[in-house]
Amino acid sequence: MTLATAFDWHDLELDEPFGISRGTTTVSENVVVRVEDEAGHRGVGGAAPADYYSPSREAITDALPDLLAAVADCDPHNRQRIARRLAAAAGGPTALPGARAAVSIALTDLAAKRVDLPLYRLLGLDPDRPITSSFTVGIDDTDRMAERAARAAETYGILKLKLGTDRDREIVRAVRDRVPDATIRVDANGAWDADEAVTMARFLADQAIEFVEQPVPADDLAGLARVSEDGPLPVAADESCVVPADVPRVAEAADIVVLKLTKSGGVWPVFRMCHAARACGLDVMLGCMTETDASIAAAAHLTPLSDYADLDGALLLAEDAFEGIEMPGGEIDLSRVDRVGTGAQER
Ligand SMILES: [Mg+2]
Repeated sequence: MTLATAFDWHDLELDEPFGISRGTTTVSENVVVRVEDEAGHRGVGGAAPADYYSPSREAITDALPDLLAAVADCDPHNRQRIARRLAAAAGGPTALPGARAAVSIALTDLAAKRVDLPLYRLLGLDPDRPITSSFTVGIDDTDRMAERAARAAETYGILKLKLGTDRDREIVRAVRDRVPDATIRVDANGAWDADEAVTMARFLADQAIEFVEQPVPADDLAGLARVSEDGPLPVAADESCVVPADVPRVAEAADIVVLKLTKSGGVWPVFRMCHAARACGLDVMLGCMTETDASIAAAAHLTPLSDYADLDGALLLAEDAFEGIEMPGGEIDLSRVDRVGTGAQER
């Protein structure tokens, strides 16, 4: 078997500038991978790989022809061989996670289409476990954040608020004032030290916040553990958990782990990490980058394995060449999915 393969970049404008504690972006750089078998079945995968977790776009552009050549003669169902070939071509089992994710998603989409199944059925998951994704409000001027939260709450029942500024309390009070009944979780993207984070967690609990994500820097697992133990809120580890070996480490320090296809190399690595997290007593949140539905549609099929979902990435784009799984009000209900593969299709 030989697969035809191709990739290209899509620079997708965001609906509004997206601020987190590390900076603000206005464009999401996405790589889209296409694969086609000899029978004409096509798979598509995407990722926004050139960020915090991955090398530059140039490095990914240089590496992708080798990644694709390495899997071009693979049976798309032989995921053990695909994982080994991708690891060898990438320079290690955890190298180039975003590029591997795009390839992995495309091959998984193709595999599901070859057997005429939606991806969740190929994965053996129960579709009768609907879950509601949060909608993210990025860092901005306080009034604009409150306004955006109020507007989002008209449609979405769960909001995620990005924090990590010198006016975090003001932001939370302003938002809570506008949306007294919404479920709100917050994500500091590592911006606080442990002392600050424990104090903030107490304040956030008083504001009826659901949980706090990545309160301290990625490598400060002792700090993460302290926020978990001394603070009143559940703590989610995102930047602190990238590769499978991180799962048992963060299990000692957090309550929830945030898993993302682009961060960890695609569908199968995340599938395995979901189970590892469970075995370590962690709850799971499936997350994403601000990225194309060619990626997020695949993540949606893993939600029966998760306790929380934060899969709004494509909703934050001004336009996307793909449409994925519908999420009315943020609800992902796989029992309503009838398209085969990931369900991502060209608009
Ligand atoms: Mg996060």
